[in-house]
Amino acid sequence: MLTERYPYYVANRPRQPNADLPVTDKYSGEVVTRVAVADAAAVEEAIAAAVRATGPMRKLAPYARQQVLEHCVRRFQERAEEFALALCIEAGKPLRDARAEVTRLIETFKAAAEEAVRGGGEVLNLEVSSRAAGYRGFTQRVPVGPCSFITPFNFPLNLVAHKVAPAIAAGCPFVLKPSDRTPVSALLMAEVLAETALPEGAFSVLPTRLEDVGPFIEDDRLKLLSFTGSEKVGWDLKARAGRKKVVLELGGNAACVVDADQAGRLDFVADRIAQGAFFQAGQSCISVQRVLAHESLYDALREKLVARAKALRAGNPRDESTTLGPLIDEPAARRLEGWIHLAVERGARVLTGGGRRGALLDATVLEDVPEDAALCAEEAFGPVVLLQPFRDFDEALHRVNDSRYGLQAGLFTQDLSRAMRAWDELEVGGVVVGDVPSFRVDTMPYGGVKGSGLGREGVKYAIEDMTEVRLLVLRQ
Ligand code: NAD
Repeated sequence: MLTERYPYYVANRPRQPNADLPVTDKYSGEVVTRVAVADAAAVEEAIAAAVRATGPMRKLAPYARQQVLEHCVRRFQERAEEFALALCIEAGKPLRDARAEVTRLIETFKAAAEEAVRGGGEVLNLEVSSRAAGYRGFTQRVPVGPCSFITPFNFPLNLVAHKVAPAIAAGCPFVLKPSDRTPVSALLMAEVLAETALPEGAFSVLPTRLEDVGPFIEDDRLKLLSFTGSEKVGWDLKARAGRKKVVLELGGNAACVVDADQAGRLDFVADRIAQGAFFQAGQSCISVQRVLAHESLYDALREKLVARAKALRAGNPRDESTTLGPLIDEPAARRLEGWIHLAVERGARVLTGGGRRGALLDATVLEDVPEDAALCAEEAFGPVVLLQPFRDFDEALHRVNDSRYGLQAGLFTQDLSRAMRAWDELEVGGVVVGDVPSFRVDTMPYGGVKGSGLGREGVKYAIEDMTEVRLLVLRQ
């Protein structure tokens, strides 16, 4: 169970000031706990401490960084069920999904523990012209320095882990502002970090009101801003970030193409699309939103998808049999319900779903949604999937690209040349052949192009961003 009130962490230590924020159970809407909230002075203290920790973090030997990460892995394993319950309550995730996120948290930290002792450099051949005869070059990667992290509500543990674990592996101190809607998970992680031998000031985890969050973005002592969240906020923050490096992991309206040769395996395809569209009530940046199915199998796939949507059990996420939890709050569900109504007014057909009770939105399948309707062109971020038939494979690729987003795309096909064409031509960060765009493991490079972001996460790739190449030239 949750405790009554959680401290924030400044310079590795818990602190309980008077000011706090309520945290609600996303199913019942009741306030279930409170978290201490950092004011401008605490944010300044955290940044100053991170600056002081820059040298000690850089000097922390790779094996010592690895030991810190391994300690976290052990403690997360021991506390897995407690963490899952916290996620279930504060994010409204069905327990099954919450446990899956804790498993991924552990995998992310394990991957970072391995990377912590890897980081080698290169030996360069500099003798590219006669004037460089006798010169040799070497590189090493050095930590960028203090980092700023801002994270969203939808994976409040694992998306925090995608910044925190690589930062420890890279040797960077950090200040983190978790989502004010789901701050408990990050504070539980901070409890574990506080047990480790990280140098003083290496980490601060600060739920912060928006009016005090400016320094996380604008302070030049912070050398990298890594933001995961919505498109609008992300690009706005980048414009304010000054000289620091910026990594943006933003939204999407992911598409999945089902090619004509899939007719014999539509049960598998429908299972995967239902999982990709309705997992976490569709609140994933790579949730399947648009399905482009070849016209020869469109009707059969539609029937199977509708059946799977109807089979989901919406309800209290704490109930083990629940497979569809609420959206993060009622306004989010109302927004999506409104988009469904607007699309229907313009000719869309609801094949199943569309109903709403508070923050719970039924798993919804639609067809004939106009491509410029918000439900298609914007990020739905809910349990909604749109079906569209296509005749020609090129037309399907064109429609996948006809989006201002570009995170991941899925393609079900047995045709290798089509798979390679999709990989070459789709404007996305990753193409998943044989599965939905929602596939992710925590070591793969992950991120978007166009409106979906800038840079890549995935432990090794995040470490690249959190380090700079430093060159040594030797003349013999
Ligand atoms: P959000 O943009 O509303 O909030 C994200 C974080 O930014 C929160 O901590 C929030 O408090 C903070 N924030 C909001 N406005 C701010 C401002 N003006 N200044 C500073 N900080 C501010 O996003 P959300 O609703 O929490 O999360 C959902 C979004 O995140 C979706 O768009 C989803 O696609 C995206 N997302 C992307 C990825 C990815 O890896 N690409 C992963 C998960 C979620």
